Amino acid sequence: TRGTDTVTLDQLPLREDLRGRSPYGAPQLDVPIRLNTNENPYPPPPELVEDVTAAVREVAAGLHRYPDRDAVALRRDLAAYLSVSTRVPLTERHVWAANGSNEVLQQILQAFGGPGRSALGFEPSYSMHPIIAAGTRTDWVPTPRRDDFTLDTERAARIVADRRPDVVFVTSPNNPTGGSIPLDELETVLRAAPGIVVVDEAYAEFSSQLSAVNLLDAYPAKLIVSRTMSKAFAFAGGRLGYLAAAPAVVDALQLVRLPYHLSLLTQAAARAALRHADQTLASVAKLAAERDRVAEALQGLGFSPVPSDANFILFGRFADATASWQAYVDRGVLIRDVGIEGHLRVTIGTPEENDAFLEASKEVPR
Ligand code: PMP
Repeated sequence: TRGTDTVTLDQLPLREDLRGRSPYGAPQLDVPIRLNTNENPYPPPPELVEDVTAAVREVAAGLHRYPDRDAVALRRDLAAYLSVSTRVPLTERHVWAANGSNEVLQQILQAFGGPGRSALGFEPSYSMHPIIAAGTRTDWVPTPRRDDFTLDTERAARIVADRRPDVVFVTSPNNPTGGSIPLDELETVLRAAPGIVVVDEAYAEFSSQLSAVNLLDAYPAKLIVSRTMSKAFAFAGGRLGYLAAAPAVVDALQLVRLPYHLSLLTQAAARAALRHADQTLASVAKLAAERDRVAEALQGLGFSPVPSDANFILFGRFADATASWQAYVDRGVLIRDVGIEGHLRVTIGTPEENDAFLEASKEVPR
């Protein structure tokens, strides 16, 4: 055996607080129907593929130089998209971008969390929030949602006022439960928060609620709205997340970002993809209609789907969710066991994929 194969993880001088932890990871299984990571099931249209390819070809001649460190042109394009879709005028000074919204969230905790500081989230929610908190050594304060997974914002505000976390995460629509919160309820939390409130709007395009971007001018020292091109934009493989906030927040994040974190190729590809936003986002209405059809069909089969404003549905009940998850896999359908007792989460796919999922749902053990 090679020397490199003789050392195990517990023999390494790893940080004590990371020992025994598991990395984030949904199983990436090679099955026909993959409805487990909330991606857009529709591949990019040929014109978009052409445009991305041409854009990458053009910038490739400059690959010997570092890219624009501030990604100004891309941020301007993202600001233009947000301004049109939310009707809140924003410029590149209000927008920051990174490799997926996970990196955006990590930079936020690097700047506003960290050792001796805390971040609070309403669980169940996106499982990366506590993992990013752990990685940045930010204390995590889990706070429960109601039994029906909605957020009791009056109670949330009391807890936030009491615990005084440096950062509060509100995911809207919430992953993995699907519900979103109206702006007036969000304001109840914002008013109570002593520090930063991150509204994680990864699924905002699927939602019927107004974006928290509308509250930026009222809470400029508190509010950060995080977005991604991974879901509605069908650009998960391109890795592009972004945020909208006051320009001062963008200045703060420059202190922790790595120089040239967004590659020349990423910036060019994301800008090309954004030029086709209208075409890509045309899938949103189709997916929302499919979501409602699947929820109704699940109901008809005797399941209890949780009302969703996103491109996925949490549903139950199962006596043994993990065993039922495996029964779906055995039928070629990969969905997600998110660790909520009695429940599984399915991402909305194409009508054919959804039908295959519904067929399997008739057969799996409850
Ligand atoms: N926030 C939420 C709520 C998510 O569900 C996800 C993706 N699962 C992300 C952020 C991160 O996505 P990405 O890094 O691809 O932008």
